[in-house]
Amino acid sequence: MPSSQIDSLHSAALERYRARNPGSLAALERARKVLPGGNTRSSLWNGPFPLCIEGGEGCRIRDVDGHVYVDMLGEFTAGLFGHSSPLLAKALADAHARGINLSSHTPYEVELAERLCARFPSLELVRFTNSGTEANLMALTAARLVTGRPRIVVFEGGYHGGVLTFGHGVSPVNVPFDFACLPYNDHDAAEAEFAANGAQIAAVLIEPMQGAGGCRPADPAFLQSLRDLSREAGAFLIFDEVQTARMSVGGAQARLGITPDMTTVGKFFGGGLAFGAFGGTREIMERFDPARPDALPHAGTFNNNSLTMAAGVCALDNYLGAEALEALFARGEALQQDITRVVKETGLPFVVTGMGSIMNIHPRTGLGAEADRKILQLLHLTLQERGYYIAARGLMALSLAVGDDEISGFLDALAGGLDGLVPDTTFGTPIAKAPVR
Ligand code: PMP
Repeated sequence: MPSSQIDSLHSAALERYRARNPGSLAALERARKVLPGGNTRSSLWNGPFPLCIEGGEGCRIRDVDGHVYVDMLGEFTAGLFGHSSPLLAKALADAHARGINLSSHTPYEVELAERLCARFPSLELVRFTNSGTEANLMALTAARLVTGRPRIVVFEGGYHGGVLTFGHGVSPVNVPFDFACLPYNDHDAAEAEFAANGAQIAAVLIEPMQGAGGCRPADPAFLQSLRDLSREAGAFLIFDEVQTARMSVGGAQARLGITPDMTTVGKFFGGGLAFGAFGGTREIMERFDPARPDALPHAGTFNNNSLTMAAGVCALDNYLGAEALEALFARGEALQQDITRVVKETGLPFVVTGMGSIMNIHPRTGLGAEADRKILQLLHLTLQERGYYIAARGLMALSLAVGDDEISGFLDALAGGLDGLVPDTTFGTPIAKAPVR
């Protein structure tokens, strides 16, 4: 496919996008007056302007212009339960009826903590936060204070939260910790860092699969070498399983058979509400016991908020059992294989990487970064026109609500290629219009 053809398909797709989404553009213009760029979550920005989604039901979402999409993004991996789980709705209503903002310990938090500690080999004790970012900040702070060392090893392409971003170098809004940012999956670089600075290293923080970094799985041998290097140096190995916790009932760590000293989780374990948690060995985490004279403080008005706790318990009990997560993993692996087959058969310039139900389609035009950017946007917009919603950067995350029909429909949409678009705004069963708030 020559560059000029990509350019003309790309311009035509942008034109159609603008024409078919006037409501989303108007929503952005309104938002621009009170939110910088109309945005309060940077990762949701995509050119020429993002869609404004007004509601969803099951595995479908609907934008303000009335287009219905199969949601193949699942809230960037946080949304595992579809958009209208009656079980979660009931758990939330019950918790609300019992009273919220209760100003003390409640019966809810222990229920969730017991369930999480039972699942993860590395969690003896756990504490809750309101986001994955906060969980990672607290885990790193604990590691620095408990070891009395300043340095944190992280990896290029890593994402551990808005202030712990290592995608394109070290982000200017990152917290000012002493980071050593090493190449991912590079055993020699890790060994060299430990040889040079081992006595200064408090922790190694790593995603078993880099999510925002493009769904790049870690080499198990690399993770094992980090396990060995950190143990020898007296540093903590921290697995950020905010995304990969869904890879089995005990997360990626159970699947890989590698147990870190600390683990952070978030996203779906709050049943779709704001959530994070960090935990680890009893020895490390006991430092947060507030009755100790040397207790490390960890505050947060909403750390134990009863709605999130109740939703998390409901999600764990009803949706996130071993069997369901194994089936989701297998379904995701099969989808990755099918995408690979379709791109081969059609000659589309893409590859897919990932682990289980979380994957990323990457452009491979061989024509340079600009052509790659355009063809990825073309794919994103083309799939949207055919009724399938993925992230602009190519990320896809299956939720438990996505069924076989949706997956085969997605593969058909992909097999249709980037040419001869057939806009279809009535895909699937239209959902009830969500109330305007
Ligand atoms: N770690 C990883 C691996 C993540 O993917 C994310 C969110 N995408 C975070 C941490 C941060 O979580 P939150 O957005 O809840 O702060």
